[in-house]
Amino acid sequence: MGRSPVTVRAPAKVNLALAVGPRRPDGYHDLATVFHALSLYEEVVATTAEDVVVTVEGPGADLVPLDDDNLAVRAARALAEYAGVDARVHLHLRKGVPVAGGMAGGSADAAASLVACDALWHTGLGRAELQTLAGRLGSDVPFALHGGTAVATGRGERLTPALVSGTYHWVVAVPDGGLSTPEVYGELDRMREGDSAGAEADGPVVPPRLLAALRAGDAEALGSTLANDLQDAACRLRPGLRDTLEAGRDLGALGAVVSGSGPSCVFLARDGDHALDLALGLAAAEVCRDVQHATGPAPGARVVA
Ligand code: ATP
Repeated sequence: MGRSPVTVRAPAKVNLALAVGPRRPDGYHDLATVFHALSLYEEVVATTAEDVVVTVEGPGADLVPLDDDNLAVRAARALAEYAGVDARVHLHLRKGVPVAGGMAGGSADAAASLVACDALWHTGLGRAELQTLAGRLGSDVPFALHGGTAVATGRGERLTPALVSGTYHWVVAVPDGGLSTPEVYGELDRMREGDSAGAEADGPVVPPRLLAALRAGDAEALGSTLANDLQDAACRLRPGLRDTLEAGRDLGALGAVVSGSGPSCVFLARDGDHALDLALGLAAAEVCRDVQHATGPAPGARVVA
């Protein structure tokens, strides 16, 4: 049996639209969202080891747990149990996605870990089985496996691919520090208390105009329909985000939105040159710690070496 190291890449996500229903009795919220995978990648290198071991490098590595709380470790253990093999792997994570940035870097690690361990251990699971395991690990993990652009419902795990024309250029502004996803949802719940109009009565829906813009490859229409129900809650917890969004709009971004629960903000550019101008302008405005240029849609978790 060949046991050479396996390297897998999985993408970051942004939510082009994120509609959040009311808090359910079980504490979760029903979502309707459009996930879009970006060319910012987590890389996971899997090698045979005595047990499951994880090491991490890259920005924010010190914030990532090295025990069974790590989503990549949980993915490896879940796959081993499902396939009936011993969980023996060293997972080395190279963080290319901001930690706790609302871009699902941990979920990308989990998706990459599933694909890497499946290859390393020769368990030969099909995509459908990996998707099922991914759905058990977290609501963003199935999309990190899938990639591209997809409409998601439920807690985010029920995916339907979306039709997309062309490639979009994005600038990602990463502020200092992260935001806790449960805290942002908690803030939204508080904002909606006593405001029955705040939560959508018929359940959350994705704006049809946004899907039409993606089908047509119309960046301007897409920029004007970006929407995120968590944005106001994230901005209340981190008021500086309003300045970041405003700075991008002033620089001519076609659209500006907080990614998921934040605090990363994404800006849609007209093309690659415009993205570089936007990135330089945002860096000069000193409204964030880091600025990155990315394109989407990007492919889902796949073996690269
Ligand atoms: P969420 O998926 O909760 O919206 P996020 O996209 O904002 O999160 P992540 O970087 O995915 O941000 O992870 C958030 C938290 O999950 C981290 O603060 C960390 O404590 C924990 N975590 C568990 N496993 C990982 C991992 N492999 N990489 C990064 N964080 C991880």
